[in-house]
Amino acid sequence: MRDIYTRYKPLIPDGRQVKMQLNLDVPNSSFGFVTDRRLLMEALQILVDNAVKYTRNGEIHIGYEMRYNEEVKFTVSDTGIGIPKSEAENIFSRFYRVKNEINDMTSGSGIGLPIAQHYVQLLGGELKLKSDPGKGTTFFFSLPFKEGQGYLRVVS
Ligand code: ATP
Repeated sequence: MRDIYTRYKPLIPDGRQVKMQLNLDVPNSSFGFVTDRRLLMEALQILVDNAVKYTRNGEIHIGYEMRYNEEVKFTVSDTGIGIPKSEAENIFSRFYRVKNEINDMTSGSGIGLPIAQHYVQLLGGELKLKSDPGKGTTFFFSLPFKEGQGYLRVVS
């Protein structure tokens, strides 16, 4: 998660045409977590790419937290354009893009979220969202916590 934060931080325009802030919310103490780091990072990267793309002004939060010593919950939230409730299932279909003013101006294939969902499922989770049109969107998923040495250790 810190890798993604470090990678994106310099790319977020700061106070020019668009005003956007990227924040990292992680526990103070790190913990070992065994997972497939490559799949996890790919999925998070798709979510952060989308958060940047669909937020004109505002904030993006990325983070994770340990829950009940059983699962690790990952969250990517933005204060962007949001997703209407009626589209919440469609966006996980391949090549589906919501009709909105940002998609009218940008190109995209509508494949990012289905891939992210597939990766999260391979890791043992389910990608879900909460969204408030005009206010923002939060994508989140929880992965089973498997304790291990090191931080986000790769097992594949
Ligand atoms: P690409 O796969 O080429 O990045 P895309 O971003 O359109 O294209 P997906 O990542 O699959 O494709 O997203 C599908 C649709 O879901 C998007 O077209 C967009 O309408 C909506 N969407 C995804 N993330 C967000 C978000 N954070 N805020 C608002 N809308 C979003």
